[in-house]
Amino acid sequence: MTSPTITLANGVKMPQLGYGVFRMKEYNEAYEATLAALETGYRAIDTAAIYGNEEAVGQAIKDSGVAREELFITTKVWNDDQGYDTTLRAFDVSLQKLGLDYVDLYLTHWPKPQLVDTYKAIEHLYEQKLVRVPGVSNHHQHHLEQVLAVANVAPMVNQIECHPSLSQDALRAFCAEKNIAVTSWAPLGTGITFTHPIIKQLAAKYGKTPAQIVLRWHIELGNIAIPKSANRERMAENLHIFDFELGTDEIATITALNTFHRTGSDPDNFNF
Ligand code: NAD
Repeated sequence: MTSPTITLANGVKMPQLGYGVFRMKEYNEAYEATLAALETGYRAIDTAAIYGNEEAVGQAIKDSGVAREELFITTKVWNDDQGYDTTLRAFDVSLQKLGLDYVDLYLTHWPKPQLVDTYKAIEHLYEQKLVRVPGVSNHHQHHLEQVLAVANVAPMVNQIECHPSLSQDALRAFCAEKNIAVTSWAPLGTGITFTHPIIKQLAAKYGKTPAQIVLRWHIELGNIAIPKSANRERMAENLHIFDFELGTDEIATITALNTFHRTGSDPDNFNF
């Protein structure tokens, strides 16, 4: 099974279900996992400079034999490199490590005080056609508003923590209004994905696993999701969600499980 795509603000198509490679610093682990994901049918890979695995991801892409134009590769500028010139330099390093001529999506990893200059550099890379889609990550509405106030080309993706314990209704609505697609990181989120009776009931009803129910919920919300698993069976399981649909009431029931619980930092309150 492969993922359908969604069309971003500039017409570029992005697979709605991709593969994330966070916490795979060891070369062989990241290489084997990325290769396995591509063999399983994933066409979008989400990495970041700080993950320390761009070389391994790049080598796996090369060795997979999948045509470059079929792939959608995301990477992110780390906090220490924020600012205009430093972002341009960090991008060169990422591109070189990945062994690519361009990346599909380049993101500001977290909002720092230099977020506007960082985004202006990403916009420049977009104008230079080194980046197919400009975007940001972990931006609250007030961060997006700072960027939108100066952008010639608005960010087209905001990658944020989103799962049933943190359904992000207000931010998703703001992004929808501005035609900014939302990518859910930690899409499986917290334990409730696997233990909540409502999710377990839906899994039994559809003959799916709880992980598949939650990933399908992201898809039906219109989000992009980038689950991570180093296990081939789970990689395949997570991609096998395009043969059923949840009802509108079921989607709303999962969304209502929200408790504003984060697995990661609040972008307004982090110090790295
Ligand atoms: P996730 O929701 O993808 O995974 C959570 C846990 O679920 C993992 O331990 C995984 O092993 C397990 N899992 C995966 N599939 C499963 C299945 N079918 N059944 C049971 N367990 C399963 O969370 P994540 O790895 O934190 O996030 C996914 C990706 O999001 C990352 O790899 C990274 O690419 C991206 N990310 C981005 C940011 C950011 O700041 N932009 C932060 C964190 C993660």
